[in-house]
Amino acid sequence: MKCYLCNATKFIKRKGQVRDNPDLKILECLSCGLVALNSHDHVRAGHYENSGMHENQNQIMELWFSETAEDDQRYSLSNHLYWVSRGQPGGHKEWESLNSPDLNDEYAKALEKIGKSDTIIGIFEKEN
Ligand SMILES: [Zn+2]
Repeated sequence: MKCYLCNATKFIKRKGQVRDNPDLKILECLSCGLVALNSHDHVRAGHYENSGMHENQNQIMELWFSETAEDDQRYSLSNHLYWVSRGQPGGHKEWESLNSPDLNDEYAKALEKIGKSDTIIGIFEKEN
């Protein structure tokens, strides 16, 4: 797996485990320090929607995630409009004039409301 922030591939395993899903590992990126789960498949809403086999696990993870994780939006509307218009990345820079803190905030809120934020932040603490 690659670090979601810096693409590094070396991790150390942190102590502690995800309650209700001990198979998940908690990893810390050796390069940037990001702490993340070793798999995101378990937390993608709708991923196992039609499977049934993982339904229970999926529900547990959604509940757990709704209590511990936050949505975050990395890319702005200008970035996405640029994708639609040109089919290329980098729109948040190319069309910087379309960015404003208010617009970016409102766009992030709108995406969060429909569960389509591009980033999920989870914070994990070691139990003492
Ligand atoms: Zn990293």
